[in-house]
Amino acid sequence: MNETVLKMDDVDFSFGEQKVLEGIDLNLLPGERMALVGPNGSGKSTLLKLALGAYRPDRGRIFLFNTPLRQFRDWSRIGYVSQKANSFNQAFPATLREVVASGLYGKLGLFRWMKERDWHRVDAVIEQAGLAELAHRNIGELSGGQQQRAFVARALVGDPDLLVLDEPTVGVDAPSVDHLFRLLADLHREKGISLLLVTHDIETAKPYVDRVVRLNRRIAFPGNDEKRKPMQVVEG
Ligand code: ADP
Ligand code: MG
Repeated sequence: MNETVLKMDDVDFSFGEQKVLEGIDLNLLPGERMALVGPNGSGKSTLLKLALGAYRPDRGRIFLFNTPLRQFRDWSRIGYVSQKANSFNQAFPATLREVVASGLYGKLGLFRWMKERDWHRVDAVIEQAGLAELAHRNIGELSGGQQQRAFVARALVGDPDLLVLDEPTVGVDAPSVDHLFRLLADLHREKGISLLLVTHDIETAKPYVDRVVRLNRRIAFPGNDEKRKPMQVVEG
């Protein structure tokens, strides 16, 4: 079998009675950049969380790097930025540098485990994200765009093969959006990183991805019922 970065095979998922996703088939190849689009509430964030093992599918199979999800342990190969990662307020008690460093050990506060070369890596990624001057600022004092770049840097600090971003342009100023996409293009060119990007802003994202897939209902149902029908992936 050729390597796939992420493979979803006929996956169904419900929240209680509400069937959110049905018959999801998805293949992300090494080095491929995919944008996932679909209306609000269509299950995009849920699909990402399923792919990352936060929820268990009701049916179907999921593989990360050709390993069944439940046996997958190599989480350093994946960087993830959740939706609204860039909404910390002033009270959040960590510097940008600490937030980025937390990407190496999974959480804040484990800095005693950090070696000098870990801090070098942290600072290099901060530099790459164009945030060097802000490294010692409290994360909550930064703009939405700066926070977003900080969380992308956090996701990149472990040098992942796959970067998963959920709505990375929401609440982000135009120069930061620009910077983010140029950073993604660099990472793809230099390291062949794969990208799974959920976005509303398909016009901005399109030049930077290889493929756009859409969450769509299998059949169009009339009226309000439509909201409740599960979603499927449609190519193109
Ligand atoms: P999207 O990211 O495409 O906007 P979501 O994946 O967040 O959509 O949500 C898909 C559907 O699942 C929505 O109807 C939402 O209300 C519901 N949902 C999302 N998260 C939960 C949850 N933790 N518990 C129950 N329902 C949820
Ligand atoms: Mg979402």
